[in-house]
Amino acid sequence: MKDTEQTLDLTTRIVHHDYQPPSGFVAPQPGVFKASTVIFPNVAAMRTREWKDKSGYTYGLHGTPTTFILEERLCALEGGLQCVLVPSGLAAIGNVSLALLKAGDEVLVPDNAYGPNKGMSVATLAHFGIRAVLYDALDPTDLAGRITPATRLVWLEAPGSVTLEFPDLPALVRICRERGVTTALDNTWGAGLAFAPFDLTGDGSLGVDISVHALTKYPSGGGDVLMGSVITRDPALHMQIKLLHMHLGLGVGANDAEAVLRALPSIGLRYRAHDQAARGLALWMQQQASVVQVLHPALPGSPGHVHWSTLCGAANEGQGAAAGLFSVVIDPRHTQAQVDAFCDGLRFFKIGYSWGGPMSLVMPYDLHGMRRLPTPHLHPGTLVRFSIGLEAVQDLRMDLEQSLRQAFAPR
Ligand SMILES: *Cc1c(COP(=O)(O)O)cnc(C)c1O
Repeated sequence: MKDTEQTLDLTTRIVHHDYQPPSGFVAPQPGVFKASTVIFPNVAAMRTREWKDKSGYTYGLHGTPTTFILEERLCALEGGLQCVLVPSGLAAIGNVSLALLKAGDEVLVPDNAYGPNKGMSVATLAHFGIRAVLYDALDPTDLAGRITPATRLVWLEAPGSVTLEFPDLPALVRICRERGVTTALDNTWGAGLAFAPFDLTGDGSLGVDISVHALTKYPSGGGDVLMGSVITRDPALHMQIKLLHMHLGLGVGANDAEAVLRALPSIGLRYRAHDQAARGLALWMQQQASVVQVLHPALPGSPGHVHWSTLCGAANEGQGAAAGLFSVVIDPRHTQAQVDAFCDGLRFFKIGYSWGGPMSLVMPYDLHGMRRLPTPHLHPGTLVRFSIGLEAVQDLRMDLEQSLRQAFAPR
């Protein structure tokens, strides 16, 4: 080859350049490997290489050094053994449901679950002959009563999306385990930091089967990446999920994987900062005349507070751990227009979906459209959810104060 090198055309030489940099490069961040095609040394290697595990590389969709490293670090964060990466948190939920359910099966979803999970379960899964049933996550006997011989999967969320009620997660998992039903937790709120999803009792005897995480939130931390993960501790269960992941082609881009790898080392610090600021502001909101209820699992009196204390209370040297989210119920004597004006009147809280980034966010919600089952624990009124960013708490408090005053002034 070498003797004929000079006779080759320039275009060929730059494509088939044989320079290899020296090996042994070590830096804090792993390299960003980008590939659809992966090159095999020969046909025999192509025939024998396994796409299903991390013993080698076959195609970009099945993994690169960059995605393998991110998967392993996420397993460490959540206490799992296997991981697949998907293009969003919602895709992670879909990957689990479609991998595990078939026509004739039933799936149970909490009535306070992340809205698009409920929507997908009730509408899309029905197209495949799968029946979704909603259950009251605050009542383990309600869950137990809805499990039938056709139930194959139970979704869990701790706490519920938007309304943030904290369920008795160990009790719910125990009910499913006794009946041989697979459990999948949407662990986006806990993020692997507030509690250990695969070890709910601290002695390794009880955990969920699957943990799904919207990496879009705290692991990415910038409000600029969409990604999700599905983590397991059982090779057979992982393989079911991995097979569907392959059939649907749910790969992630290397640059997005890199963005998450870059933010991951600071997740503990950020989570704690979001938590501290959110708890301070939630307490302050409890004192405001226009607010009739504050929903934050770490606040005594908030629905499921005792279950939060049991599961998350020991973290942070006994201060407990929580994500930087809370919701308030505005006194129903105020109109929707006033609530909207309150949200519009905020300067540092931007109106937008998602959470986990540096910027504080606010969003009004209509509870009536969101729930099928009764919610006696929730005060009537308009719900407003806050996601606390990384701004100084006193500036956020000042902002809330000025907009509350403007929007809800007696007139
Ligand atoms: C945001 C979120 C998701 C979905 O994540 P995306 O990446 O936006 O699809 C799922 N579950 C919960 C609890 C979330 O907050």
